[in-house]
Amino acid sequence: MINVTQTYLPPIEEYRSFLQRAWDAKWLTNRGQLVKELEEKLIAYLGVDNLTLTTNGTLPLQIAIKAMELKGEIITTPFSYVATTSSIVWENCKPVFVDIHPDYLTIDETLIEAAITNDTSAILATHVFGNPCNVEVIEQIARKHNLKVIYDAAHCFGVNYKGKSIFDYGDVSTCSFHATKIFHTGEGGCWITNNKELHHKIYYHHNFGHKNQEEFLGLGTNAKMSELQAAMGLAVFGHLDEIFKGRKEVVGFYDEYLKDSPVRKLKIRENTEWNYHYYPVIFETEEELLKVKEILNSQQIFPRRYFYPSLNTLPYLKEQKCEISESISKRILCLPLYVGLDKRIVENISKTISNG
Ligand SMILES: *Cc1c(COP(=O)(O)O)cnc(C)c1O
Repeated sequence: MINVTQTYLPPIEEYRSFLQRAWDAKWLTNRGQLVKELEEKLIAYLGVDNLTLTTNGTLPLQIAIKAMELKGEIITTPFSYVATTSSIVWENCKPVFVDIHPDYLTIDETLIEAAITNDTSAILATHVFGNPCNVEVIEQIARKHNLKVIYDAAHCFGVNYKGKSIFDYGDVSTCSFHATKIFHTGEGGCWITNNKELHHKIYYHHNFGHKNQEEFLGLGTNAKMSELQAAMGLAVFGHLDEIFKGRKEVVGFYDEYLKDSPVRKLKIRENTEWNYHYYPVIFETEEELLKVKEILNSQQIFPRRYFYPSLNTLPYLKEQKCEISESISKRILCLPLYVGLDKRIVENISKTISNG
């Protein structure tokens, strides 16, 4: 069976040797040595000032909204994983959807200003498939209208934009280290912010509000990463070169085999060092997509409809229209992409797509 992704598993002895340290210390969570070591390694690797690990990539989104005391409307993208929208609703704010750019698939920054009202408090956008939003224009708009900016950078591990980590843009960025993501800790995530005050607030929110054992700085929840998760991260961390190289190779095969195919590919924003996280293709019609999906499924190949449905159509929301996102959501399919995916399988998938 070929799935859209396959979790990268390091040699189990390496994982075991990190676990051994947790055993020796008899310490499984509450920011132990493995979490701290992984944080240090990631900060150095990504070239960011500050990064804190969390138990998944959704809680830091919710906590960021809480920490910035966002109220009312949050402008967001309809083309992302459901966690982007659900975090806004979970924090009692209203998502206001702005349609996406048809080539980059990120929020269309030229439509943001028209969506701003007196109730708007922030912009929460996704660098979807690791493709950066137009961060410069979004920053200008945010400054002009006094809005906060959160980036759901769940797909962005290793992405650089204009020579620095994409995590460096916005008031805060969050990432996911879920098993399906490029770098993973089984379940896990982090937030990155250069704002010291905001960092302090998110930090105590993620640990029950503790100042120390007996004093509290304020309200909190529990979003801490455990030592068991960090052990997986440390074991995977040692293989990052192999992971990026392996994915780049598969992307190269698809590019080659699909070069004369009618499907449209993701346009990566200029000045981006991309991370080869997903291989989305856009069909002309939903019928064509469904036909290809059915043929591939019959061969035990399971691409995924990322991202479907368009989030503005979620059943718990009042109707808002986003024509481009709704149209692309129906026609986009993410092809299997992971380290070690056989070239012949890539060729077969590509031929199925080209021959429809
Ligand atoms: C994976 C993902 C998340 C959620 O991350 P978890 O670690 O699974 O909680 C959030 N946003 C996007 C865009 C994602 O793809």
